[in-house]
Amino acid sequence: MSSRITAIRGMNDILPVPVKDNPITTGRWQQVEQVLRGLMQQYGYGEIRLPVVESTPLFARAIGAVTDIVEKEMYSFMDRGTPAESLTLRPEGTAGCVRACLEHGLTYNQTQRLWYTGPMFRYEKPQKGRYRQFHQFGVETFGMTGPDIDAELILMTARLWKLLGLENAVQLELNSLGEPEARHAYRAALVEYLRAHLDCLDEDSKRRLDTNPLRVLDSKHAGTQAVLANAPQLPDYLDEGSRDHLAALTAALDAAGIPYVRNPRLVRGLDYYNKTVFEWTTTALGAQGTVCAGGRYDGLVAQLGGQATPAVGFAIGLERLVLLLEAMIPRTDTAEADIYVVTGDDARQAGLLLAETLRNSLPEMRIVTHCGSGGFKAQFKKADKTGARVALVLGEDEVAAGTVTVKWLQRGEQLTVGREELADHLKQGLGANS
Ligand code: ATP
Ligand code: MG
Repeated sequence: MSSRITAIRGMNDILPVPVKDNPITTGRWQQVEQVLRGLMQQYGYGEIRLPVVESTPLFARAIGAVTDIVEKEMYSFMDRGTPAESLTLRPEGTAGCVRACLEHGLTYNQTQRLWYTGPMFRYEKPQKGRYRQFHQFGVETFGMTGPDIDAELILMTARLWKLLGLENAVQLELNSLGEPEARHAYRAALVEYLRAHLDCLDEDSKRRLDTNPLRVLDSKHAGTQAVLANAPQLPDYLDEGSRDHLAALTAALDAAGIPYVRNPRLVRGLDYYNKTVFEWTTTALGAQGTVCAGGRYDGLVAQLGGQATPAVGFAIGLERLVLLLEAMIPRTDTAEADIYVVTGDDARQAGLLLAETLRNSLPEMRIVTHCGSGGFKAQFKKADKTGARVALVLGEDEVAAGTVTVKWLQRGEQLTVGREELADHLKQGLGANS
């Protein structure tokens, strides 16, 4: 026997049923997607669908050449053209979204409210909540300078947690990165301080000191954490504009009753952010606790060749969100069908047609026909396994008489119903039971 080819490490199949090592099901996933679509409708956001592959320099320019993503996490490859071009599987959605908006003239002198969802790719060490192909739902807005749009995005995410029943499972962390000049001044002060404590830092942080020192604030290393306790604080370096912006944002959150934690060490792994940054985090998922991350990136549009355009956005890691849902609110309805059609060998075609007719009158019901061999006993067993509430039995006798035997599986009740009354009978029975 030849060896089997398996999925790529860190790239998961999502199935209708939970399997070993992956509790995430497509049903859960669809539930989240449906809620997200409804939410976007409520806020008047339009969907944008973007290619999965973009030109490599787009990400280097947008995300920053010395970030983890660009330095070591991108799936890049040369295509087959002459000359060959370097392409990259997108590691995030913002760069492509800005690229598309510029290409189609959506940002100049306009406001835009957009959302997207789809797979992202990063060559990371796979573990719970961290994969090589993962999915994000993201929102990007353009053309709005004030803190009110920042607040809108946070209110929108707060509403989402509520809709999903997760409002007590997540907390909001908030910070301001200031404008680039203020951040550079802070950066210099931080580097000077950290250099004086170089011996206590972990290797990763030492390396970042030269390339991306703000990321040191993110370090989980105990020694580095201890050093950071007395480090200069970003909030002390903020420019006045950023201070006012943050004050107005927090005032809006207070007024709306959204609690938050000010985290002066909150920074993002991508270079394009300024002013507002925020994360929704949970303690229920272990180390991978950030479910949603976002912030303002007023410089990015110009950085990618457009007219300066203010922008704010966020992205939700869908796997983490679905895992969190699974952990907090275990699914009770695992049934795959409402109605299961069982037939005798001579009534298979009649069974198919009966199901078709019922789908016309009961469009919401999940109707499954047996479509296979096996006696009545085996078919009933299958019906039970699907979790269906009712089995419809069609044998030779029923076909001849124009009736159907209706068996309520949980109640163990069985009766014969005429074809004309069947839909109403089922409607009543299923409605009363639900
Ligand atoms: P982290 O600190 O967890 O590595 P990040 O700063 O790299 O996150 P972003 O680039 O801001 O994350 O992405 C937004 C969200 O996408 C994260 O908060 C997380 O929920 C999700 N996410 C990021 N990387 C992964 C991954 N490899 N697997 C699953 N989800 C991810
Ligand atoms: Mg990361």
